Amino acid sequence: MFHSEYPAVEPVEEPIHEVVLRGAAARGERPALIDGVSGTVLSYAQLDASHRRVAAGFAAAGLVKGDVLALHSPNTLAFPVAFYGATRAGASVTTVHPLSTPEEFAKQLRDSGARWIVTVSALLGTAREAAELHGGIREIFVCDQAEGHRSLFGMLAVPECEAPEPEVAIDPATDIAALPYSSGTTGVPKGVMLTHRSIGTNLAQLQALLPMTEGERLLAVLPFFHIYGLTALLNHPLQQGATVVVLPRFTLETFLAAVQEHRISSLFVAPPIALALAKHPSVDDYDLSSVRHIVSSAAPLDAELARACGARLGLGPIGQGYGMTELSPATHVVPRGAAHVPPGTVGKLVPGTELRIAALDGEEGGTPGGDLGPGEHGEIVFRGPQVMKGYLGRAEATAAMIDGDGWLHTGDIGYVDEDGWLFVVDRVKELIKYKGFQVAPAELEALLLTHEGIADAAVIGVGDADGNEIPKAYVVRAPGGADLGAEQVMEWAAARVAPYKKIRRVEFVEQVPRAASGKILRRELRTRHEQAAQGP
Ligand code: AMP
Repeated sequence: MFHSEYPAVEPVEEPIHEVVLRGAAARGERPALIDGVSGTVLSYAQLDASHRRVAAGFAAAGLVKGDVLALHSPNTLAFPVAFYGATRAGASVTTVHPLSTPEEFAKQLRDSGARWIVTVSALLGTAREAAELHGGIREIFVCDQAEGHRSLFGMLAVPECEAPEPEVAIDPATDIAALPYSSGTTGVPKGVMLTHRSIGTNLAQLQALLPMTEGERLLAVLPFFHIYGLTALLNHPLQQGATVVVLPRFTLETFLAAVQEHRISSLFVAPPIALALAKHPSVDDYDLSSVRHIVSSAAPLDAELARACGARLGLGPIGQGYGMTELSPATHVVPRGAAHVPPGTVGKLVPGTELRIAALDGEEGGTPGGDLGPGEHGEIVFRGPQVMKGYLGRAEATAAMIDGDGWLHTGDIGYVDEDGWLFVVDRVKELIKYKGFQVAPAELEALLLTHEGIADAAVIGVGDADGNEIPKAYVVRAPGGADLGAEQVMEWAAARVAPYKKIRRVEFVEQVPRAASGKILRRELRTRHEQAAQGP
């Protein structure tokens, strides 16, 4: 077993909005968030006052403790106002990918039992359709303005602002603050129950390795709906009084222009952005000298790319962080200012967390599940206050991931070196990560099986020429479906899923390899793909 070398932190026993915004009112006019496109500033005092008013507005509309509110929005200044407003009113917030199709959104609404939606006018059509498909939504709010819908901006004006601030008793240890969706190690996306305590404590754990200060300026281009963005770009910097410049979507030019204009000091990115920073010619056209610190997370980052990206900005190799939605999300990060960081590591263990490397069946000579020592490869397993409470309404899936002793099995393979640095080398779970976004093979397989020309299907992640992991489908044509082509399958699927979930490669096979239990033998497919890629 491995322990953190940092002093333990106490579990944080307060609601997340208190933890993050406790110092906000006193910070007054200091900018909390700046819209990177319009330049609009939301000060700490405004953030504090507005989330309280929005909480009052939600309560006046009928939202009560324990309700689930779906937050469906790109990154905007209103996102944190809606999030902390909802938690202050006692809601659990299920964050929704803004590019979800109405059907995907409706599935999440149904599974989470959501009663309220907060969206933006540009996405209102999708939200309305999803609400109609689900049937259980009491009201759709918009952050900006749309006829027939109450607006969060409106709540900042009379009469809702005069509604009393709700007095809700929250138990941080058991009440759910965030309910993001993740497929975990297997199956379809599931609601990950993150308590106020697990998210709040994870901030304290992160601060030990990644101290954030008031003077810091961050650029929020990773999505707030993902727990990585919510933590690294809202909860953590806003707790410490930093300033977050918000971009609704990533284009390299707006990103680089925002870094230059706002003198960004700290960047949290996913590997595709690190790749662009390392390789794209436009990077030379901007003054990026303000950037002192970059962290990449959400997917593997090649060590050479980490070096090239840092060097381009006059820095050392950029450091990685590691975590997963089910871990609130962080367990590892390269400590800020650390010397002698070995290439490729995802960092050191945060305090208050135990780590085991568990032997895989028949590998490393150990008994399956047995503890391995430094340098030995096995499944990465954690125990600590940031472990999720479980999957909403899925006791079996929860038990499959968290064992009776509270250990969470990540489905990632890695090892710890003699100095305590963790390296992630492979993934044994089904999950595909396309540019850091989760794609659940089970979801695509279920979709493919609804196509009348398809008898069976399996989906795995494969590498493309740019180093991205992409979904590849192995498809068995139905009798009489001999003319079904790869392009046709890809187009058909693309019309039914959010763009990041697109199937990007198709191979037709006679049969999908399955175990006697019916389980798809993905390893066989991976081997088949690797052999084909290597050629005869
Ligand atoms: P998510 O729940 O979407 O955050 O996905 C979590 C998964 O992303 C982990 O279990 C890993 O498979 C992968 N992941 C996150 N960070 C890293 C990293 N630094 N290196 C390799 N894989 C990572």
